[in-house]
Amino acid sequence: MNVRGKLFGAMAVLVLFVTVFYFGTTQGYLESRFEHYSKDKTSGIFETYYKDHGNSWEGIERMKISNGMGQGSPDQREISLLSTDGDILFFKGVGDPQSLIQHGKQKLIKINEIPVGTIFVDRWESTEAHELKIYVLDSMLTEGFIVPALTGVIALLLGLWLIRRLTLPLKRLIPAIEKMAHGNLHIQIPVSTKDEYGKVTEALNHMAKQLMRAEEVRKHLTADVAHELRTPLSIIQCQMENIQVGGRDVPPEILLPMQDEVIRLSKLVDDLHQLTLAEAGKLPLDRKPADLVLLLNRIIDMLKPEAEDRKIEMICSYQASTMIVFLDPNRITQVLYNLLTNALRYTPHGGNITIRLTNSFHEGSRFAVVSVADTGAGIAAEQLPYLFDRFYRVEEARSRHTGGMGLGLAIAKEFVEAHQGCITVASEVGQGTSFTVYLPFSSDSKPVHDLS
Ligand code: ATP
Ligand code: MG
Repeated sequence: MNVRGKLFGAMAVLVLFVTVFYFGTTQGYLESRFEHYSKDKTSGIFETYYKDHGNSWEGIERMKISNGMGQGSPDQREISLLSTDGDILFFKGVGDPQSLIQHGKQKLIKINEIPVGTIFVDRWESTEAHELKIYVLDSMLTEGFIVPALTGVIALLLGLWLIRRLTLPLKRLIPAIEKMAHGNLHIQIPVSTKDEYGKVTEALNHMAKQLMRAEEVRKHLTADVAHELRTPLSIIQCQMENIQVGGRDVPPEILLPMQDEVIRLSKLVDDLHQLTLAEAGKLPLDRKPADLVLLLNRIIDMLKPEAEDRKIEMICSYQASTMIVFLDPNRITQVLYNLLTNALRYTPHGGNITIRLTNSFHEGSRFAVVSVADTGAGIAAEQLPYLFDRFYRVEEARSRHTGGMGLGLAIAKEFVEAHQGCITVASEVGQGTSFTVYLPFSSDSKPVHDLS
């Protein structure tokens, strides 16, 4: 059964319940009102008699009780009055007054709060009032039923119209969801309402966009990996074919480029593995207190020979002589190494690289701030948003031997974020580029996205 059917079923049950309940309570209420009225009226006759006769039942046995409505047929009720001593003072009816006293309805008569007798009746209504009651209740059961039945039918029709209206957006959503399920992610469903349906539609549109982006990333990743593998593999293949054709000993100048390519391939596989782990949030981190000054100096010492060769000056400016931060030294060394090798690679002869180490506060947490600024060619503003994407390289030529694979910054970003830190870039074409890494001093700080 579809939602419309279920809603209609629920509504029909509700309408039926309300009709029956209303009908039942109205009948019961009317009946009790009749009884209450007649009870008061009957006891009123006796009370009036008692007061009119000087607070005495003197001659009550001769009292005539007319029908409730005053005229017509005589009242056929059985009525008896008992004194406070239990004597029968009045009896009207056929049969045994004792049986009426035992089985009939009773009411204590009080005058000025003092009991003066008890009346017993087989029913409270007079014959005519009883007939009127039966007539009214019967008419309610027959003709009176038409009104609630009609109201119920109208309520159901109105409900049907409302259900159709309320479920219409859902009906519109289903074909779009089915298309998405079959892989058509280019669908954007128009958001026509601001209610929950509107929110669901917005969430679906957002989900479709995300899935499309994930699908594109996946396709690009496969294409990029294939592209990166193709060149070194074809170089190796070509060299090996030459060796086979030559049929002589392999000289080192042939073997060395092959080894270079194998090293590049191993690095690519390793980088991709690290990146995938970090993106999936499964990067194992061995965080411990480590001195950032020491880490930076070690990397700088490693890169110094290359910098000196290319006449690039490396300037260090540290706020303190030690800065102990709770981090994974291997991962952060990799981050800083990637930034510094980039700076070296993309800075021309005679340029300089400035490495600064400071600290800053953000939302109650203290951060170590490492910035690497170079005087290289700089990066155009429109390229900056993609810089941390995997395999993204700015150079149009994407020459494999002058540049890298385009994974260094993606890895740096993932590793820094795994430490609840963030990395930012600022660049000006012709002036240089500056990367800044923010690392929280402790591991319990909230993740940050941009502190610049
Ligand atoms: P890999 O690091 O994987 O060996 P890569 O250095 O090309 O390769 P990333 O470190 O991710 O890759 O850098 C991406 C791109 O950003 C680089 O190809 C380069 O075009 C640009 N880039 C990075 N750092 C700088 C910089 N300091 N100055 C100018 N351009 C830079
Ligand atoms: Mg790099």
